[in-house]
Amino acid sequence: MTEFIPFALPDIGDAEVAEVTDALRSNWITTGPRVKSFETAFSAAVQGKHGIAVNSCTAGLHLALEALGVRADDEVIVPTLTFAATAEVVRYLGAKPVMVDVLPADHQIDPAAVERAITPRTRAIIPVHFGGQACDIRRIVDVARAANVRVVEDAAHSFPVSVDGRPIGSIGDITCFSFYATKTLTTGEGGMNVTENDEWAERMRIMCLHGISKDAWKRYTAEGSWYYEIMAPGYKYNMTDIAAAMGIVQLRRAGEMLAKRESIARRYCAAFAGNDAVETLVDSPRSTHARHLFVIKLRDGHLSIDRNRFIDELKLRGIGVSVHFIPLHIHPYYRDLYGYKPEDFPVAMDCFSRSISLPIYSKMTDDDVARVVEAVNGLCAKFKR
Ligand SMILES: *Cc1c(COP(=O)(O)O)cnc(C)c1O
Repeated sequence: MTEFIPFALPDIGDAEVAEVTDALRSNWITTGPRVKSFETAFSAAVQGKHGIAVNSCTAGLHLALEALGVRADDEVIVPTLTFAATAEVVRYLGAKPVMVDVLPADHQIDPAAVERAITPRTRAIIPVHFGGQACDIRRIVDVARAANVRVVEDAAHSFPVSVDGRPIGSIGDITCFSFYATKTLTTGEGGMNVTENDEWAERMRIMCLHGISKDAWKRYTAEGSWYYEIMAPGYKYNMTDIAAAMGIVQLRRAGEMLAKRESIARRYCAAFAGNDAVETLVDSPRSTHARHLFVIKLRDGHLSIDRNRFIDELKLRGIGVSVHFIPLHIHPYYRDLYGYKPEDFPVAMDCFSRSISLPIYSKMTDDDVARVVEAVNGLCAKFKR
């Protein structure tokens, strides 16, 4: 039996191990100097003014909405084709996630649908940059400005990405990145919020550590003091120096890791170009591509097996895949709470029912890529209708 190719793997090298070891030996294992330098380096990389490191992107999205003053009964617009985190943070604050459909070509949130979904109760929009490309963020920012609502970007898939030369992180009101194990830069668990706004940055800093008015590390260093004040019932969302140590090295390696994913994507595109049974997502002319996901969609009427069976067959050939995403509106919680029906968002349903995300990560070998290509094209030939 050939070795199983997992859907995702982190790319941790000797440099990450050395930096984490240094952090451990330094005795600063929670939020300390490495978090500070990671915040500075990361926010500079995305041309943002403030970087607030957190222990997940989910925490970051929650903090961002809190800082913007989202309250119970406000509405926050989100795409239905996204991960649980994008909408659950809206519920944390008692507000209503108002779902909208996506575009068929690239699975990005539909700006026209966003515009139609705005009501007097709308407080914010959370566009997701799907798969590593940017959504039409400029149009969404325009729609938001006209309606006086805020934009919190879910950039969990999109580092490093730029739109018309501007990095994601320097565009919306607050941008939330994820450093989860499967993302394009990882700290195990972690995230970073980036903003230009001093007030929101200050609020997020305070709320990410118990609502306390000073950074904990300053309290215990020479220039600090024992005194602190609780400004609000905050959260425990701070990043550790152990995680930041990984992040600092991963950030340095971001270009090298991206180049490998780009080369895998080129091979997939070339290999599937002549396969009528599958389509790939369209590359947007406005955006660079972080190549976080490589999604293929099975074309209707070409195969005698369905998507689920196709995934089972890939698994039998030792290939791990995933599906991004099961639309939020068909999950029991949102369906029952808001009365959504599957057909409310037909594009997202179609994307979901035909999509398969193939492995794409810098640790993949040439042989791994060849095996994935062979399995996909081989299955299409075998089950051709
Ligand atoms: C991974 C992911 C998140 C959550 O990131 P965490 O760091 O795991 O909290 C949010 N949104 C999207 C679209 C994601 O894929």
